[in-house]
Amino acid sequence: MADVDLILTNAIVLTMDRDFRIFAPGAVAVAGMGIAAVGPMHDILAAYPKAERFDCGGKALTPGLINAHTHAPMTLLRGMADDLRLDVWLLGYMMPVEREFVTPEFCRLGTLIACAESIRSGVTCFADMYYFEEAVAEAVAQAGMRAVCSQTVLKTPSPDAASYEDSLESARTYISRWKDHPLVVPSVAPHAPYTCTPEILQACTDLAVEFDVPLHTHLSETLDEVAQWRELYDMPVIPWVKKQGLLEAKVLAAHCVHIDDGEIHTLEHAGAGVAHNPSSNLKLSSGFAPVVEMLEAGLNVGIGTDGPASNNDLDMFEEMRLASFVAKAVSGDPTALPARQAFEMATHMGARALHLGHLTGSLEPGKRADVILVDLGSLHSLPQFDRDPNALYSRLVYATKSTDVTDVMVNGQWLMRDRVLQTIDEASLVTAAAEYARRIDAFLIQREGSLLTKLVAIEGAQQEESYEIQIKVRLQDPAPVLVGSGVESLEVVRKAHYQEYDTYFSFQDPSQGRLRYREDEFVDDDGAVFNVRYRLTLTGPAREYDHSVPLSRSRFIAPATHSLRFYREYFQPVRETEINKDRRRWLVRFHGKEFFVNLDRILKPALEQTYLEIKSRTWSRGDAEEKAGLILELMEVLGAGEAQVVKDEYPDLV
Ligand SMILES: [Zn+2]
Repeated sequence: MADVDLILTNAIVLTMDRDFRIFAPGAVAVAGMGIAAVGPMHDILAAYPKAERFDCGGKALTPGLINAHTHAPMTLLRGMADDLRLDVWLLGYMMPVEREFVTPEFCRLGTLIACAESIRSGVTCFADMYYFEEAVAEAVAQAGMRAVCSQTVLKTPSPDAASYEDSLESARTYISRWKDHPLVVPSVAPHAPYTCTPEILQACTDLAVEFDVPLHTHLSETLDEVAQWRELYDMPVIPWVKKQGLLEAKVLAAHCVHIDDGEIHTLEHAGAGVAHNPSSNLKLSSGFAPVVEMLEAGLNVGIGTDGPASNNDLDMFEEMRLASFVAKAVSGDPTALPARQAFEMATHMGARALHLGHLTGSLEPGKRADVILVDLGSLHSLPQFDRDPNALYSRLVYATKSTDVTDVMVNGQWLMRDRVLQTIDEASLVTAAAEYARRIDAFLIQREGSLLTKLVAIEGAQQEESYEIQIKVRLQDPAPVLVGSGVESLEVVRKAHYQEYDTYFSFQDPSQGRLRYREDEFVDDDGAVFNVRYRLTLTGPAREYDHSVPLSRSRFIAPATHSLRFYREYFQPVRETEINKDRRRWLVRFHGKEFFVNLDRILKPALEQTYLEIKSRTWSRGDAEEKAGLILELMEVLGAGEAQVVKDEYPDLV
């Protein structure tokens, strides 16, 4: 008989084994890192009369919870930018801040904070995906938790790698170093199909297979992703990644929100695990994963919180409850995903999804001693009914708070005793996190203070600066320009004809300048559109000269790689003005000097109509702002430097 170090006794033991056995009162015998025996209290005490005893005081003793998907270091970015659409959130805030701040030190600190929060809420094991994963692994080991720590690989440069070759190389070194660690399972994480290439997916798969470690990724999170895949490859995401060989590895796939029955069976057949993230899917309105169908098909589905920037906590009690409630609501069936099944997903099935089913997830001899004690005596989880054993699961999943967890043990080591953390100094973490928040705030405040830095943050260094002199003349009759002026020595170098759809963003502080989103539709001689160009132009404040129309202003131009909606949500203008012009443009040479001649016809807004609207209304003092807005719209149509033209045209308005 094994040497037993400790007996956890006088508990309601929920084993979460295959038969869902419950011992009340029960006991668990711990030997070294592992569980030696589980059973009725009197049997265990009789079997090991000399072993030290720990009285659990009638609390529930269960396997530790398993958070199947998170990005632990992002605790340091929690609450930095919320209530945004995924692209604005990710490309506008998360990635620029990560480029600036994410270092090994950031990852170590963020992970320690995540570990402290997780231990407090009864989590003993989690699957992580981030940068500098070796620093994450070091923090996990320091905290004494169990985790699958996955090194991210992306096709674009990341905070820890200039290229994907670099990150693959560091993933290989990291995995070989941590391969046999007692707590950390190293892993590789090709971030998602849309942030990787087929070559990256293949290389990551080869690496995971070579070292026999899990491969962690995001699959089918949004409808957009699936629609894009159908358009590009004529198939949804799962068959496509299968074609790339990805399912050869031990896959842990986060989300799988938009997958069909065929894809569910493909994943099940490949032995892949799925991490269901109800809070994140709700918060980012990604949709509702077909969890009930996945479970019916026999897939191993764990429950994850996703990163603390998209949840915003790491509370698995809340996540279990949501998983159950959302499944009921979406299926219209209150019997769907009952409490015991939700608890199973957060324990035994979650461990299998992480490919750690042989180590943890249930209280069985031979598994590691990863256990928690939950106080069921609080008012909010009373009373106890004994008729139906499921009442215990429903108390744990529907009524228990994470703060009811009092004690946590991982690998036979206490990480929390009577709500006091044993391996982490929380006070120092709080101070260090506050310092990061201060620095990130300062960085963002500085960036948000200037349209240019905000533009550079998302479009990189692509912008070009130009200065130009414009002279504008209002024409009653454009015919002479159209047919050519007959001026001698004026040579037309090239010409173009296009429709310009402009949206001007104006801001509170006019010295910021304005931002123009322009869609140019190039039109051929028959009036058909043959090319479309999207550009973003930041125009500095114009300098005007008295009683004259020339102006000069600095402009930064960048190709617009995102949608108008993206820029609107990212820059948050106080006003938007739409202008549509028909533009004919000639590059001409005159006495050796080249310059452009534009002939613009304003199609929107209808100037005359706006003028009549302003004129026909009786304006009260309270309407001043609206009137100013309409006048501004008129001015903007004609350009910032052309107040004079407006004054000439509509002298009674200004
Ligand atoms: Zn994620």
